[in-house]
Amino acid sequence: MRIIKTFAVLLIFATAVCGQNNSGVEVTPGNEGLTVEYIANEGISITHGKHRILLDAVHRQYRPAYAFTPEDILSKIESARYPYGNISMILVSHHHLDHFHAESIARHLMNNNNAVLVSSDQVVDEVEKSGAELKKLFPRRSAKPEQFRRIKHEWKRSEVLEQEGLKITFLGLKHANSELPKFRDVQNLGHLIEIGGKKLLHIGDADMLAENFDSFGLEDQVIDVAFIPYWFLLSKDGKALLKKDLRAKTIVAVHVPPSNQSKTIRDILVSMPSAVVFTQKGEMLNY
Ligand SMILES: [Zn+2]
Repeated sequence: MRIIKTFAVLLIFATAVCGQNNSGVEVTPGNEGLTVEYIANEGISITHGKHRILLDAVHRQYRPAYAFTPEDILSKIESARYPYGNISMILVSHHHLDHFHAESIARHLMNNNNAVLVSSDQVVDEVEKSGAELKKLFPRRSAKPEQFRRIKHEWKRSEVLEQEGLKITFLGLKHANSELPKFRDVQNLGHLIEIGGKKLLHIGDADMLAENFDSFGLEDQVIDVAFIPYWFLLSKDGKALLKKDLRAKTIVAVHVPPSNQSKTIRDILVSMPSAVVFTQKGEMLNY
């Protein structure tokens, strides 16, 4: 992992600036390799070569319990301005408002016809609807039909999307609290992203049940980084899953609420000292 290597070089030459995230893992600003940057809640941006992917990273202020995309960044994403002018793909785990905002994504697609939204019917339906409203306001600018790609969500089903230098396996997962009617039909997609020689796993708000994961053979994969809702790291069942189906070289806790954050971070690191906790925009992993 580049963060370790780079730190070793810094120790020798002591010339560059090195940041540190709240988990004590040293990080350095972007490079030519694979970069994963935290945006908000479960949102990350993944950059490698020509691929610039936003995953669960485009959402507006919703409830106090959820971190949201900072307004200056959201405005740059919506208008496709630097450094968000060259987004190639937008991924969304599910349609809850702490993971996506339909109009914000529709605005980006309208302003950047090179970006493609790849997600469930629930997400794509809402973004298309929002795009139709925007078209009335901006008749000369609109997203093209080829900017929308639907992934059929079905529990335990997976689907693969491959492009040059990128492979994404979409995983049909149940959302947390799936026993409740409110959550039963949420189309929650996991993403196993192979890019830059690494494997990244993101599970959205997956239900913390072994059966939710065991049909995908994830335990046979060598996963480099897994982005996991922090409550998994605080629970016995969640930790058991992280040792087996969701095993990864680096576990990054996400979805950490803004209030009482330092206590939550402390609790996570007591429970799993090797974890990285993403809470601040700009925290990143470089490979
Ligand atoms: Zn959710």
